Amino acid sequence: MHREQQSRALFEQAKGYAYEYADGATERNVFPSIQALADLEQFVEDLPATSGDAAAILQQLHEYGSPATTAQTGGRYFGFVNGGILPVTLATKWLSDFWDQNTALYAMSPVASKLEEICERWLKQLFGLPDSTVAGFVSGTSSAILCGLAAARYRLLQNQGWDFNQQGHNGAPALRIIAGRHIHGAVTKAVALLGFGLDNIEWVEGDDQGRILPEQLPQLDGSCIVLLQAGNVNSGSFDPFDAICDRANEVGAWVHIDGAFGLWAGGTKRLKHLTQGMEKAHSWSVDGHKTLNTPYDSGILLCRDRDALIMALQASGAYLNFSENRDGMLYTPEMSRRARAVELWAALKYLGADGVDELVYGMHKRALQFAQELGATGFEILNDVVFNQVIVSPANNDIATDKILSAIQDSGECWVGGSVWQGKKVIRVSVCSWVTSAEDVSRSVQAFIDARDAIAEI
Ligand SMILES: *Cc1c(COP(=O)(O)O)cnc(C)c1O
Repeated sequence: MHREQQSRALFEQAKGYAYEYADGATERNVFPSIQALADLEQFVEDLPATSGDAAAILQQLHEYGSPATTAQTGGRYFGFVNGGILPVTLATKWLSDFWDQNTALYAMSPVASKLEEICERWLKQLFGLPDSTVAGFVSGTSSAILCGLAAARYRLLQNQGWDFNQQGHNGAPALRIIAGRHIHGAVTKAVALLGFGLDNIEWVEGDDQGRILPEQLPQLDGSCIVLLQAGNVNSGSFDPFDAICDRANEVGAWVHIDGAFGLWAGGTKRLKHLTQGMEKAHSWSVDGHKTLNTPYDSGILLCRDRDALIMALQASGAYLNFSENRDGMLYTPEMSRRARAVELWAALKYLGADGVDELVYGMHKRALQFAQELGATGFEILNDVVFNQVIVSPANNDIATDKILSAIQDSGECWVGGSVWQGKKVIRVSVCSWVTSAEDVSRSVQAFIDARDAIAEI
């Protein structure tokens, strides 16, 4: 193995494949071809009994793996709410991969600890969050939500004289979960995982954009965890934080804002109005890997109550402080973790506050362009495009919508996904890559038109 590292040939080989992949990413089929998918069978074999050849392994991966990827980096991938990747973050990931750092403790990686500290400070500043806010760097927003709700549970029960870590669920004072009808599945999953029970959620209806109707909020009290969102996964809409947070704060309720992709609006000048009042919440979940375009595996939990977060995640009676420096594991459920803050730091350092605004507003502009060009050729747009999401109704019935969606996906020109909006099948367009240009949008709109024409001819 040492021989392979020393020769560097393996890494040169990987680099060559990586560049070849990058060069092809803008022009290839956005979704893998039928042949590429069939070729995945090449990986199906029994566990090798003996050691293999590293160069051959890499070669197999490139030959059969690379073509079976979705071309997310090419600028015409609009599926789900995924993100692109800023070159500076990819390059820093390359370098830090060679470091192979574990960020559990300062003693394991001083550099990772320092960069986490910097990211925490910058994010607080960018989002305008309270000074007491701490950040946990986790794998994604799903994980971040879990941490936020665990902190909420710890604090609200502690306020009632109940130590959740020691005394647990049995006999605990009941907590109330208040959630908007359109909350993301990752939030309801966290509610279930933490044992609150989905049937116990007090649902609050939303308006035609999926925003919570504040006047429908039940009476709040100190046992309430209120779940709001910045960025509806379909429409991109934002709940009205200001008034709801004020009401929650008056009675000692906890507000968590899930802003996996949308919280970044709060870090911009031009879209900040969407998140007005968000700083009055208690915890926030957001991804680096969506709107900010860092590599995957980058979720962030921000929490204004450091003690509650640490107590919930470490379940230790003592007020934990391992060293004078930042020990990252205090703020996450995991102990060993890779140094994901390196890429987050690189993204923020590279973009700066102005660059974040430009990146996020640029996605919004492309989304507006999408809506405008689709609308001009007779596609119905069902949402107010306030952020990066466009909901498109390409036909007046679900069967035709499915056909048009498949035709777009099969064209290889772009990739968009389906969703359901107000009981109707729709196409969801999510612009979340820095690469996507005005030409990419127009070219993708043409794929919509071609697909509709082709279906009409059948
Ligand atoms: C993507 C998303 C999540 C889940 O985030 P992961 O990083 O995939 O775990 C949660 N909430 C919203 C609104 C999302 O868009």
